[in-house]
Amino acid sequence: MNVPDAQKAGQSRTDVAVLSTSITRRDFVGGTLLGSGLALLAMQAPSVLRQAQAQTLAAPLAGLGPDWTGPGGLGDYARSNGNTHEVVNAAHEALRNDAYRAQLDSAHDSGELYDLVVVGAGFAGLSAALTYQLERPHARCLILDNHAIFGGEAKQNEFEVDGVRLWAAQGSHGQMYPLADAQRWGEYHHFYSKVGMPEAFQWQRLSGTAKNIKVPWDVYSPMHYAWEQADTGFYYEGHGFTLNPWQNGFRDAPIPESLKREYLAMELNKEPVSRTDWAQWLDSMSYSDLLEAKKADPRIKQYLDPIVAAVGLGLGCDAVSAYGAYNFLMPYTVGQFLELGIGDPSDRSHLVSLPGGNGSILRHFVKTMIPDAIAGSRTFKDVLFGAVNWQALDGQNQPVRMRLSSTVMDVRHEGARDRSESVRVTYLKDGRLHRVRAKGVVMASGQWINKRVVRGLSATYREAMEFFHHAPMLTLNVAVRNWKFMEKVGISAARWFEGFGWWLSLKRQVLIDGSEPMPLDPNKPAVLQMYIPFPIPGLPLAQQAVAARMQLFSMSYQVIEKAVLAQLTKMFGPHGFDAARDIAGIIANRWGHAYIVPQPGFFYGVGGKPAAKEVIRQPFGKMAFAHSELSGMQVWPNAAKEGERAGQQVLAMS
Ligand SMILES: Cc1cc2nc3c(=O)[nH]c(=O)nc-3n(C[C@H](O)[C@H](O)[C@H](O)COP(=O)(O)OP(=O)(O)OC[C@H]3O[C@@H](n4cnc5c(N)ncnc54)[C@H](O)[C@@H]3O)c2cc1C
Repeated sequence: MNVPDAQKAGQSRTDVAVLSTSITRRDFVGGTLLGSGLALLAMQAPSVLRQAQAQTLAAPLAGLGPDWTGPGGLGDYARSNGNTHEVVNAAHEALRNDAYRAQLDSAHDSGELYDLVVVGAGFAGLSAALTYQLERPHARCLILDNHAIFGGEAKQNEFEVDGVRLWAAQGSHGQMYPLADAQRWGEYHHFYSKVGMPEAFQWQRLSGTAKNIKVPWDVYSPMHYAWEQADTGFYYEGHGFTLNPWQNGFRDAPIPESLKREYLAMELNKEPVSRTDWAQWLDSMSYSDLLEAKKADPRIKQYLDPIVAAVGLGLGCDAVSAYGAYNFLMPYTVGQFLELGIGDPSDRSHLVSLPGGNGSILRHFVKTMIPDAIAGSRTFKDVLFGAVNWQALDGQNQPVRMRLSSTVMDVRHEGARDRSESVRVTYLKDGRLHRVRAKGVVMASGQWINKRVVRGLSATYREAMEFFHHAPMLTLNVAVRNWKFMEKVGISAARWFEGFGWWLSLKRQVLIDGSEPMPLDPNKPAVLQMYIPFPIPGLPLAQQAVAARMQLFSMSYQVIEKAVLAQLTKMFGPHGFDAARDIAGIIANRWGHAYIVPQPGFFYGVGGKPAAKEVIRQPFGKMAFAHSELSGMQVWPNAAKEGERAGQQVLAMS
């Protein structure tokens, strides 16, 4: 709880100083101190879990067209909104269906030999390349990526609406802030300052309304863990919006009283797991198991599932390790932070989300290694908004080169692995196979790719890679001409429980050179962001992950667009929203393998065996593996840590 909140709750500064050592925001609901009495609240008998639906839709995995992808907006990212049909077609034809296997040996050999080839231009790949370049500035490095632009999950969308330029993250949204807290909690990587990112930010203020609507710094924090950072409307079918229900114990929400008590019990719980092996213990069970152990009512899973999935765990409570839930500060794990003396991180922190999300940070990596790749100087503004100079990415005489729209299909040692001096990398570009060679390779792609592409893997690596299951996400950026319909309700974010999606939010922009990059005024254009996961509770993990992906792939752009229009009209129509008038554009960013789903045993292994991620972190001949998924907690600093480790492993090989 921060000081202004406390003052609202009628306490003096002295009270706050005393309280803040042991009591957090979670102890106050609507300004009333709750706590010990909660233990006495009656628990409701478990309700029946929502019936799981096996999703067996026949989704085409190749031969998709532009109508499936939909519009990509403006600017340099316009051809690369998530996994586009080009990316999906190439990956499925070349890798899944192995359509080019017979032609591999006749690939065009460019004759190029690199010190390092990196597969993947996301944070992990760029961090591996940067690690190598910092150590050996004159070495030659090639980065290959199958997308039309660098960034991996850290890219941006751009719109222009009524003369106003708008930006939004395609995926990766923000960096924990303040940075001092991020450093203390390990949610930071030293490359942040190395690439020239600012250390402190200021944010724009709301204008154009007499209402004092709280607009969050980022769209993630208010999803649950810091609900007080936004004015949120909970929409209930047949009832409409209930404003900020967490502030008054869901008093006005049309839900059973018993469920309200369960919500409060969940929110206020901060009982730690008091055992020395608490981390291993949490990892030995699913988050659902932990909720059961804590005697939480099964109905709260419906509330938690989309949050758990969207914040970074991919699927819902039944699929993920309770330790994974702890990593993302989920309810019933907060007590562990207090026990460790860290305090409740949600009381002080949020994300700093730049106009292009973490894509804005990633552009600094690109500018650092290939200075001409982005027009302009190395000022913050130029790096964020400068045009990409496509020719400069793959310039012949520069130490780091980047080759895009290149799907790597085959990576193998030349000669026997233990004596091999080089690795052969074959990739598909413009419908042709090409080959380069490298003294070392970092595979900064996920395990669903690595297990198909890297040849000669031993059974140990294969088994470890098979342990990885990935969940999809759909990120929608909805550009609106105004958001008066939200102002009317008095909200900057919305949560709902039925229909399409579950959450949308505005965010405040950071000031850039003292100016706001886009307005924050209900009468002016803005982007509403929707992060949509596909949990299917009840299905075993492997099936659930595939079924969820099929759900995502089976939706054409038109289907998505219709669903968004219908959902927004249902919720905001009564408040003056008119889809035809108010929506200027929607960009759909599909991420088929958005997040690793860290199942029980992901972090500490199963049956006394080392965790699969530790197996993969070992170098394989002249190759090393780097991807944020190896951390089980996909955030960009972890991608950078994995990339740096893999870069160092390859450096140590020669
Ligand atoms: C919706 C969403 C929201 C997120 N929000 C946040 C957030 O707020 N904060 C945060 O810190 N993190 C967030 N993340 C996670 C974080 O951004 C990612 O973990 C990180 O960006 C991933 O970097 P990476 O390099 O590990 O992988 P990726 O970004 O996946 O990069 C791997 C690259 O390799 C390419 N590739 C794969 N196969 C091949 C092949 N065969 N040939 C060539 N190239 C290939 C991929 O296309 C991709 O470009 C979010 C992620 C998603 C999906």
